[in-house]
Amino acid sequence: MISVSAAGATHPGKRRQKNEDSYCERLDLGLFVVADGMGGHAAGEVASRVAVDTIDQFINDTRAADENFTWPFGLEPHLDLDGNRLKTAVKVANRRIATRIAGERDLQGMATTVVAVLVGHRGVKVAHVGDSRVYHWRDGHMARLTRDHSWVEEQVEAGALTPTEARDHPWRNLVTRALSGGGEVEIDVTSLDAQKGDRLLLCSDGLFSVVTDDAIEETLGRPTDDLQSICRELVDAANRAGGPDNVTVLVLRFDAA
Ligand code: MG
Repeated sequence: MISVSAAGATHPGKRRQKNEDSYCERLDLGLFVVADGMGGHAAGEVASRVAVDTIDQFINDTRAADENFTWPFGLEPHLDLDGNRLKTAVKVANRRIATRIAGERDLQGMATTVVAVLVGHRGVKVAHVGDSRVYHWRDGHMARLTRDHSWVEEQVEAGALTPTEARDHPWRNLVTRALSGGGEVEIDVTSLDAQKGDRLLLCSDGLFSVVTDDAIEETLGRPTDDLQSICRELVDAANRAGGPDNVTVLVLRFDAA
């Protein structure tokens, strides 16, 4: 059995008035979510908040899902129960965004990225859409669990840009997938067999667009139990680097229960 502890922080950064990122940490549900909203006026804030709250609600409502539960999008046989809960939660969030857009003219065009982690008895599920990330730290090494759904990431994969060029590219914020209320949203779901001592970082692009993976790895691996201080340090690093965007970080640590 594995137990998890967590801390989170969010900051508007140095150049933006508003914070359009949202996050939640629900230790009781084993649910952790970061969303980075976009859209004019207040719409980005609404999109990320709707996504986070809807996922939270759905995971809560399916805590004891039995055979009588009706899955709004059916069950995917290749995913286990938690995988289906998390993927469906993201689909429901997308549908909720569509409903809000249909009901309020000012919200047209709003969208959000999302990364969601569900810690269950049978391991950890990670779902994501867009360019927010999940990093996994184990024994001094950090690896990324998510692949950005972004134009620059596709260029890097095709060999057309180096990772450094991608970070400075004028189109670096262009996402190729997001929760925008569109009919069919493609959601990536992966699993992780978490071990004692592992750490996870969920974050919005306001962090890794200005802080290198090496610096993130170093901070995430600090030999401290004070996860809040790690969050603070990551946010500070983004702001020291200019703080061009809202930044949100959520750090989890796994221990033997
Ligand atoms: Mg952002």
